[in-house]
Amino acid sequence: MSIAAKKVVTIHYHVSDNNTGEVFDSSEGQEPLVYLHGAQNVIPGLEKALEGQVVGFTFDVVIPASEAYGERLEELCSQVPMAAFQGVEKVEVGMEFHADGPQGPVMVEVVSVDEDTVTVDANHPLAGRDLKFKGEVVAIRDASEEELAHGHVHGEGGHHH
Ligand code: ZN
Repeated sequence: MSIAAKKVVTIHYHVSDNNTGEVFDSSEGQEPLVYLHGAQNVIPGLEKALEGQVVGFTFDVVIPASEAYGERLEELCSQVPMAAFQGVEKVEVGMEFHADGPQGPVMVEVVSVDEDTVTVDANHPLAGRDLKFKGEVVAIRDASEEELAHGHVHGEGGHHH
């Protein structure tokens, strides 16, 4: 069996910033990642790298930002009056809040704070970064009808509902 749309794929992985080497995430010592291929469960560049591969395939690929979490968009940074943070004791750089974006709720991160204005950034934390993905394909199986209907994996490593 090889990796294609409608397959449930299990991988061990390690992801870092290709330029700085900063490690973002790794399944080492943890449960592997289980995802539904072709359903945008993982970034496009990773699907592309795994397409057609089989169990035991090891990968070490660089995925440009455009095929990962996208480029950083300056327009996703905005200034919010401090008054909007009522109920927050102290607004600090690095805090994350839910906000209403033009396309629904988004997570924003505080990037700077001055006396009466807070600058927040709604870019994905990994936007604008070229990622280095290393890992191995551990298992491949057919997705169930229910998984295909939901667009995600159920059971071990997946959604429980
Ligand atoms: Zn489901």
